Amino acid sequence: MVDAEKVKKGLDICALRSAGDCTCCPYFENTYCNDLLASDAAEYIESLDERIAIMQESMEALEKQVAESWPTPHAQWLVYKSGNANCSACGYEIFSGRERTPYCPRCGCVMEEVSE
Ligand SMILES: [Zn+2]
Repeated sequence: MVDAEKVKKGLDICALRSAGDCTCCPYFENTYCNDLLASDAAEYIESLDERIAIMQESMEALEKQVAESWPTPHAQWLVYKSGNANCSACGYEIFSGRERTPYCPRCGCVMEEVSE
C-alpha cells in the first residue's frame, strides 16, 4: 500500500513546483527524479480505480435494492370532453391534441390506462 500523501506531495512538487523544488520531494534521495514516484503514483491510481469499481458495484446494488423495494406509483389520465387530460395523482394537465405520455411528466406516476 502506497502512502497517498507522499505520492501527492511528490507529484505536486514534480508537476507544479508549488510546494518547493526537487530537494523538498519525499522521493528525493541524493538524486533528482527517480522511478519510485512514478511506480508509486501508478500503484495509487490503480488502487483508486479498484475503489471506484467497488463503489460503483455498491451503488448499482443499492439502486437495484431501492428500485425493487419502492413501489412505482400508478395513476390515470382523466380525459375530458374538451380533449384535455389531467393526471389523477397530481392534476398535471395535458392539453387537447397533445400526446398522453405513459408516465406523468410532473409526478412520475406510471399511467395504467386512460379513462374516458
Ligand atoms: Zn402526475
